[in-house]
Amino acid sequence: MVDTIITGARIRPMTSQHGAAEAAETALAVADGRITHLGTDEEIRALAGPGTEIIDAAGAVLTPGLIDSHMHPVWGAELAVGLDLDGLTELAQVRQAVAAAAAELSPGGWIRGWNLDYKAFDGHGIRGDLLDEAAAGHPLALIFYDLHTGLANQPALDAAGLDVDHVFSDASEIVRGPDGRPTGELREIPAFMAVLDAAPPGGGEEVAVRVRRILAQSAASGVTSAVVMDGRDSTLSTLEEVETLPGGLPVRLHIALWHQPGDDDAAVADRTLRLGDAGAEHPGGPRFQVSLIKMFLDGVIDAGTAWLHEPDAAGDSTRPFWHSVRRYDQVCRAYHEAGFQLATHSCGDAGVAHALQVYRTLEGASGPAHSLHGAPHRIEHLETLTDDDVAALAASGVVASMQPLHMQWREADHSDSFAARLGPERAGHAYRTRDVLDAGGRLALGSDWPVAQLDARLGMAWAQLRRTPGDPTAPVFEPEQRLSAAEALLGYTRWAAEALGREDLGVVAPGAVADLALWEEDPITADPDHLPELPVRCTLLGGQVTVG
Ligand SMILES: [Zn+2]
Repeated sequence: MVDTIITGARIRPMTSQHGAAEAAETALAVADGRITHLGTDEEIRALAGPGTEIIDAAGAVLTPGLIDSHMHPVWGAELAVGLDLDGLTELAQVRQAVAAAAAELSPGGWIRGWNLDYKAFDGHGIRGDLLDEAAAGHPLALIFYDLHTGLANQPALDAAGLDVDHVFSDASEIVRGPDGRPTGELREIPAFMAVLDAAPPGGGEEVAVRVRRILAQSAASGVTSAVVMDGRDSTLSTLEEVETLPGGLPVRLHIALWHQPGDDDAAVADRTLRLGDAGAEHPGGPRFQVSLIKMFLDGVIDAGTAWLHEPDAAGDSTRPFWHSVRRYDQVCRAYHEAGFQLATHSCGDAGVAHALQVYRTLEGASGPAHSLHGAPHRIEHLETLTDDDVAALAASGVVASMQPLHMQWREADHSDSFAARLGPERAGHAYRTRDVLDAGGRLALGSDWPVAQLDARLGMAWAQLRRTPGDPTAPVFEPEQRLSAAEALLGYTRWAAEALGREDLGVVAPGAVADLALWEEDPITADPDHLPELPVRCTLLGGQVTVG
């Protein structure tokens, strides 16, 4: 039986590898969550039965639903609580926000916040005591926008009972000053989580409710699938809870389980049992499923924790996040053999080169290394690459999962920590989206929320413009790396689906899952400066309209 038909649409099926041509057909039929037919309005109307839902698109543009290839919807919902410090680039502004929060709190209450900008600490150093007066004795725990550095004050460190001599099983660090006392800077996730785990959860409502709201916001920008890059056991139980809320999950989630460098063989064995773990079956398939493993091979360029071929201008970013990179090689093989798709975080070029080298040892006779389900292994971020790295990436068939909207923190005069640390040559080789494609490489695009904004339209606009959308006077970073509108949409649809080894997602074609986006105007011909405001009438998951 045909469940849903859509008529009167201008369809961009994204079935060609490099273009976004409009289809001759204007209508489609969906049964059991999958597209069964494309045709004229008349042909498709003839398939309708008594129970068929009929959607008249009235000339709206139908595309595959967008796929955000890198997101943290659950962990992000737990972390993105308290003050949103986005845009506060002066220490005085941060102090003001913290003081306002402190004034609202009862004694002992924690001040939490996220989206802190490194720029606010330029010339001061990253120190918790800079905010002592503003925090008025309350424990304070903030995280920087990139989720790689935390900042705590002494009351928070005391409450967490942090052992300043603790040696982490990776390159995480409780930074200490010349006097041996912690400065409050907590480098990398295990270090700041040691403090946050002691803080009350915050956020005011159930995590599942927040997760659902975040995903509904993502869906409102056209997204129907996202790759979750930090799966823990609690992630799956939270998603089970979201499925019981009215409307359930508004976005299909492809879960990467998170392997941390200190995790032992027993943890690896546990995770291999979870491959394929999924939520309830819906039309078109379950709305969440475990299929990837995520590992951090380095940190971030801005903080000097990336892994670069040559040291940065401050002499940092010279080593991987792992004490033993051999252990990384070993667990890559273990997860690969268990059938997982590997996703390795590497912002730095040396990390990318190393991951490629390891992935190539996993290659079979049939070509590039891939998961049991045919998904090519992938690398996340790739913020600076040499020509050799680009060539090796293209030759390997490994997916470059990139986020051009992360360029928003760069400055025209290259005074930002990213450009200053890299120096002009390497900063000029940043976010090489065009070069990756021209070399024959594979690209998928995403947000990395809560690191950057959820809105996939904004992500597509940055991929095209490489500057702030809506501000033609804003600096353009490496204009030669700009993508076309078709490539930006492919990066969020077909290419992102192929990056998951899925030929039945990210396209509008018979047999494909009916995950769709209906746009009031055409995202291909729209002025990219206006793309972030382009209205999305609705998204459909398995042919069912997503409830916001
Ligand atoms: Zn991430």
